Amino acid sequence: VVEARGVVKNFGALNVLKGIDLTIARGDVTCIIGPSGSGKSTFLRCINQLETLDGGYILVEGEPIGVKVKNGRVHLQSNAEVARSRANIGMVFQSFNLFPHMTVLENICEAPLRVKKESRSIVKNRALKLLDRVGLSSKAGSYPASLSGGQQQRVAIARALAMEPRLMLFDEPTSALDPELVGEVLDVMRGLAEGGMTMIVVTHEMGFAREVGDHLIFMDDGYVVEHGNPRTVLESPQHHRTQQFLAKVL
Ligand code: ATP
Ligand code: MG
Repeated sequence: VVEARGVVKNFGALNVLKGIDLTIARGDVTCIIGPSGSGKSTFLRCINQLETLDGGYILVEGEPIGVKVKNGRVHLQSNAEVARSRANIGMVFQSFNLFPHMTVLENICEAPLRVKKESRSIVKNRALKLLDRVGLSSKAGSYPASLSGGQQQRVAIARALAMEPRLMLFDEPTSALDPELVGEVLDVMRGLAEGGMTMIVVTHEMGFAREVGDHLIFMDDGYVVEHGNPRTVLESPQHHRTQQFLAKVL
């Protein structure tokens, strides 16, 4: 589903991604760990076209992101084309980013109505099913401010799913939550994984990575340093940097 080759990203003189190679198959859950500043968020943002690449390429569903090939020549995508490919990718951030002036139901319906131009009844039905799936049917008419952080994050997941994405990106979805609210969000993510969703999850939740992840990636200083089965990476990391990092967080 996703193929990244030699992905380079710079912010001015700062070389943040130094050549990321990664292949993700359909239905796989790939967890990414690594120290602060190693480029984890930047890499997710590149996949979702919130950043442009300075080198390498990323294919999503076999299509290069950001560019199109027409008559054998490479062109930059138009804004409409970028929006269309982004619609296939859902993203959930550390801060829930719900629209504060909209109810839960309106939050979930907004993008499908505006971007996909689907009919109101179809969108609303799907939204109600999604709310049920994240355990928040009773909150359809509530405003985000009246929900707990865990509830808000579950709404944010439902909102991302409302676009029927083929790939879900999570950037530390539980890092802003009180400890007792982390489990309810991880449970929703686990259910999504069991339903076959392709997911890339930047997380500090090693238990989730071990139990739900198919792959675990350790990133450091703009590189993928280690990539393997989560249990293997967590229990017998091969690289010195991975060992040092895990010694600190486990
Ligand atoms: P954390 O665990 O703290 O979230 P991270 O691995 O997600 O870290 P990134 O957010 O990808 O790290 O940032 C990698 C580096 O790029 C950092 O040094 C950061 O300061 C820098 N950076 C990120 N975004 C920008 C930006 N828009 N402009 C300039 N520098 C940036
Ligand atoms: Mg980050």
